[in-house]
Amino acid sequence: KNDVKKVLFSNEEVVNRTKELADQINKDYAGSTPILVGLLKGSVPFMAELLKNVDMFCQTEYMVVSSYQGTQTTGEVKIVKDIDVSIKDRDILIVEDIVDTGITLNTIVKLLKHRGARSVEIACLLNKEARRVVPVDVKYTGFFIPDEFVIGFGLDYNEMYRNLPYVGVLKEEVYQRRNA
Ligand code: 5GP
Repeated sequence: KNDVKKVLFSNEEVVNRTKELADQINKDYAGSTPILVGLLKGSVPFMAELLKNVDMFCQTEYMVVSSYQGTQTTGEVKIVKDIDVSIKDRDILIVEDIVDTGITLNTIVKLLKHRGARSVEIACLLNKEARRVVPVDVKYTGFFIPDEFVIGFGLDYNEMYRNLPYVGVLKEEVYQRRNA
């Protein structure tokens, strides 16, 4: 906690906002049995919070997709672990921690549509719209944020800080320390 420069969204804010998103999802998917596809590892706390409030029959699946190194995106998407079920004619809701350049989700949406999903939508906790390099249609956004590297509530810096219960910004000295 000493490494955090500022808290952007407290745990209470994240929890309340996620509940609002879940309420909307409950309405939009009434009558459907969607598959919520979480992208590991960052989506875990957000997915858990969503699931507490999603009030319908649904399935959960997880993918491991890598596209990030340190604070720099590589622009390359690698599927490290795929989902284990057929998604043909199913409604898919991808659950992601943050949309940044959009490269990850642009790729995954195309892939899942290509496999015959009936619909593919995205729920993300954080959305950095200003950083987009490829288009992504995000249906459910927790918070829009400026171009700052954030950590906590699932988001990491070099695999650390995912367990912080809030979303924050790291002190610059942490990057300098780790890069030294
Ligand atoms: P995109 O493909 O949209 O550029 O990147 C998506 C992935 O990049 C996210 O799932 C996340 O892992 C990582 N990412 C993008 N911005 C941030 C950030 O501000 N903080 C952290 N910790 N990860 C980020």
